[in-house]
Amino acid sequence: MYDVLLVGGGPAGMAAAIYLARQKLRIAMFSGELGGQVIWSSDVENYLGLHQLTGVQLVQRFQKHLEDYKQVIEIHENEKVTSVERVSGGFRAITPKGQYEGKALLITSGAKHRTLNVPGEKELAGNGVTYCATCDAPLYMDKIVYVIGGGNSAMDAALFAAKYSKEVHLLTINEELTGDLMLKKSCLSHAIVKVHTKTKTVRFEGKGKLERIAYEEGGEERVMPADAAFIEIGLTPSSGFINFVKKNQWQEIVVDKHNATDVEGVFAAGDVTDVTEKQIAVAVGEGSKAALSVIKYLMTTA
Ligand SMILES: Cc1cc2nc3c(=O)[nH]c(=O)nc-3n(C[C@H](O)[C@H](O)[C@H](O)COP(=O)(O)OP(=O)(O)OC[C@H]3O[C@@H](n4cnc5c(N)ncnc54)[C@H](O)[C@@H]3O)c2cc1C
Repeated sequence: MYDVLLVGGGPAGMAAAIYLARQKLRIAMFSGELGGQVIWSSDVENYLGLHQLTGVQLVQRFQKHLEDYKQVIEIHENEKVTSVERVSGGFRAITPKGQYEGKALLITSGAKHRTLNVPGEKELAGNGVTYCATCDAPLYMDKIVYVIGGGNSAMDAALFAAKYSKEVHLLTINEELTGDLMLKKSCLSHAIVKVHTKTKTVRFEGKGKLERIAYEEGGEERVMPADAAFIEIGLTPSSGFINFVKKNQWQEIVVDKHNATDVEGVFAAGDVTDVTEKQIAVAVGEGSKAALSVIKYLMTTA
């Protein structure tokens, strides 16, 4: 039996892994892609001491740090947990590759993109319709791209896409952009970015790849040529694999100030929880704090 089953390999999970490994605990860590959402971030300018790095570069630094502990941490990258259950003395995590038991469970599974659920979205996903401007914008050099959303992720995506594309249209259903004031100012004043407020995306069209986007603006429907559409309308927590801890109405796992859930032995940290700020520094701090709570828990229950 492992000491800790750690679900998630984003900043919260990686920070937790390092704290746990330093106590020489036996850890099995499960993840999709290591780095989590940070990989999608074009530039990270607000992480103390490591500013002016791209998201990918920041993840490389995190991974390099994690490698120092690879003797202790068993990393199962690209092996997602599909469900967890309680067993005598702990918990069992089930993945497509196997079953693993641990005395404590630490959940840092973050969040994933929300979908628009409009016609054409599913059919053209990966063929012009995408959820990661940071990954895909460079593919649309001198093309016409649309970013759908009105918050920080959408603004970040529009500014990144503007480095490559000839036209960037930012469509938000709201009356104005919301979020970081600097991002908002940059979008509104950018020569290439055109912001469309009170605009509802209704459909994507194309044969095999995105060719047109349909949206309602000023009371009428427009169908415009589009090479890419980046959907950036927020995130939904990746908490579906566990059904026995308390979650709020948004399916975020509810934690106390020690990152404990309502179930003894289960802790959670980062964007999967009801912590109000979803940021890298916050996730790292919460992951570290959660790991310390797990360490205390294991010491008192052993
Ligand atoms: C486009 C974009 C730009 C951003 N820019 C910034 C920025 O500049 N500065 C900033 O501070 N924050 C930024 N953020 C927010 C920041 O990236 C997140 O707050 C942070 O990554 C949250 O970390 P996390 O570890 O909680 O979760 P995540 O980063 O979401 O990582 C979750 C991890 O869990 C894994 N996982 C999910 N489900 C399972 C499962 N069932 N089993 C096993 N593993 C699973 C995933 O594969 C991943 O490894 C940005 C976010 C986005 C989307």
